[in-house]
Amino acid sequence: MREQQFNLLHDLLVRLDRNSSFYKEKFKKSGVRPEDIKSLDDIKNLPFTTKEELRDIYPLGLQVVPDEDIVRIHSSSGTTGKPVIIPYTANDVQDWSIMMARCFEVAGMTKQDRVQITPGFGLWTAGTGFQAGVERIGAMAVPTGPGNTEKQLQMMVDLKTTVLIGTSSYALVIAEEVAKRGLHDKIHLKKGIIGSERWGEKMRKRISGELNIELYDIYGLTEIYGPGISIDCHLHNGIHYWDDYLYFEIIDPTTLQPVKEGEYGELVITTLRKEGAPLLRYRTRDITRLIPGSCPCGLAYPRHDVIVGRTDDMVKVKGVNIYPGQIDEVLRDIDGVSSEYQVVIEHADGRDSMRLRVEKDQSVPTENLEKEVCTCFKSKIGIQIITEVVSLGFLPRSEKKSKRIFDYRYE
Ligand code: ZN
Repeated sequence: MREQQFNLLHDLLVRLDRNSSFYKEKFKKSGVRPEDIKSLDDIKNLPFTTKEELRDIYPLGLQVVPDEDIVRIHSSSGTTGKPVIIPYTANDVQDWSIMMARCFEVAGMTKQDRVQITPGFGLWTAGTGFQAGVERIGAMAVPTGPGNTEKQLQMMVDLKTTVLIGTSSYALVIAEEVAKRGLHDKIHLKKGIIGSERWGEKMRKRISGELNIELYDIYGLTEIYGPGISIDCHLHNGIHYWDDYLYFEIIDPTTLQPVKEGEYGELVITTLRKEGAPLLRYRTRDITRLIPGSCPCGLAYPRHDVIVGRTDDMVKVKGVNIYPGQIDEVLRDIDGVSSEYQVVIEHADGRDSMRLRVEKDQSVPTENLEKEVCTCFKSKIGIQIITEVVSLGFLPRSEKKSKRIFDYRYE
């Protein structure tokens, strides 16, 4: 695989150097020539590509093939600044559908399935990508798109939908409506394929419990095809990605150096086969880790872990990068604490200190719990902290994203 990946990388660099004014400029600035890259490990000498750069070359500065070879564009959401436009060739569209169909096969989808696609269609990549994968598998697509829960439930019941595709929050809406209306006996769902947001174990349990389905975590981003570049298998112990199409690296987002094997950091992706808008070392801002070793399911494709956060959420304490998702994970394994927490970071007498406030169940003795949280934190994240146990309901709740980390060091 590494040899194949290197050959694809080499071809990519030749293409970029010949046809991309954007990358030609980057090669010149960084002083690295494509011919300097003699092995896959040398990829670390090549420049990164960032979302800001893609915005700067709006609309089609990333395109490296003639206009007549482009069959479609998609666009990432422009909620902050200009959107990013990604042009696709016919081969890109096909490659994406192959990857998506592979995801569906891993999730056990067959021709017999009826698949309700609730993500949006149009400029946004999600709906279209899912649809292409369903058609490639030969299952029946029910392309409802988002919203109109009334219609969704009607389709789900009347057409006997077996697979639900959606975001975790929309799947939860559906699950709650099914419960509220007592439709459990009328639905035929078996699986849910859920993507595009970070979601916790508790939400997963609620959706799968209410709908009585098995859930699969699918990942992807518009800049790199769209959803469908990875999915977890039935063991749900890591997310398999397609390394014959994509090269994954994990870097420390502050030093920009590769992390040690198995450590968390920012996911960086190189598209090995993309024609319309290839990307070299694209910084996704998503935090995860590569899981060493092979999966007991027998698939040869490597795995990354769930996305635990975004680089914007990261804090560095005592030289260690910490992401909110990692704290969620520590607390998940400790009996007697709720999922709510608050972190206060301060700097006094020349050193950083981190205080973690967690809520406890009545039944558990405070002192033991404080010790256990400190020990778990030290062993999983690597630094000594102070734990403060508070009573259940003490910490603020928010419908929106709660602010959990308070960093007072630079004030
Ligand atoms: Zn597996």
